[in-house]
Amino acid sequence: MNNSDIKKYLKYLNFDKFYKPKYKRCEICNSNKTKLLRKKISWNNNKFGVLPVHCCLNCGFVFQNPRFDKQFYKNYYEKAYRNITLGTQKPPKKYLDDQKSRGKKLFKFLKPHIPKKGSMLDVGSSVGLMLLPFLKNNWKCSGNDPIRSYVDYGKQKFNLPVECILSEDMKLKKRSLDLIIIMGSLEHVVDVNLVMKKCSEASKTNGILVLEARGDPLGNTKKFFNQSHHRYFFENTLELIMIKYGWEPFLTTKYPITGPTRQNTIFCLGRFKGESIKKNFKKAIKFGKKETFDDIFFKLKYYNYLAKNSSNKLLLR
Ligand SMILES: [Zn+2]
Repeated sequence: MNNSDIKKYLKYLNFDKFYKPKYKRCEICNSNKTKLLRKKISWNNNKFGVLPVHCCLNCGFVFQNPRFDKQFYKNYYEKAYRNITLGTQKPPKKYLDDQKSRGKKLFKFLKPHIPKKGSMLDVGSSVGLMLLPFLKNNWKCSGNDPIRSYVDYGKQKFNLPVECILSEDMKLKKRSLDLIIIMGSLEHVVDVNLVMKKCSEASKTNGILVLEARGDPLGNTKKFFNQSHHRYFFENTLELIMIKYGWEPFLTTKYPITGPTRQNTIFCLGRFKGESIKKNFKKAIKFGKKETFDDIFFKLKYYNYLAKNSSNKLLLR
């Protein structure tokens, strides 16, 4: 990404200050061997520009590279993000209803895996309405999100225990949580390792972690890569990040646990075991728990192919 590309992007975001992004090692396996997967991505709907995405050649993780610093993203989330994605600073009713419904479905699904009551955290909780069914069942809940207008709305309108901070700045009590949920936020946080480390220190042994990620592309991949996603998890990399921080994945599924409104997302559920799981992380990759550059490249090519070739060309079998 040369300076002219950077300036174009910053101008697009209405940032006056110049920020220089830096190349990073793979956020999952720490390898410095990464390869360009996509140079131009979607800045917003039909606006495309340079913001390169790399694939790690050791584990197959897909992430934005180079990347800006924390201050850049702080400004980005405060000013730009909601305006770009939803076109408003006030949460729409449809969005609030969806959060409520997703929370209900999640609670029901998790029931067999969690205690009757306990302590939970929602990282990237937005308004915080997914906490409602847990609160109703006497769980001790907290949530956080960097988007102030949404957090304030949750606090003022619904009296929800949410706070406006970056998840990197969370202060959590050690071994205090029975359940942590990160629903579609892990792609957006600035420092995924710091967030996961904090969560792992706060989880009780056998505590449950629920991760939700966007999953495979829906249709043509042109818009799949966009500026608000710093990284792209697939089944394998979701499991890897859990293992890296001591959770043992026990269910990874595309089944729509929280209902139909977030089409195609993937879920990974894990149980915290600590060191006994963590210590196998590097070996697991070495012995094949990885995707190659070509695995990823052809996955994307496959979705482009599907989008282009309509079903009437297929023979029924
Ligand atoms: Zn890697």
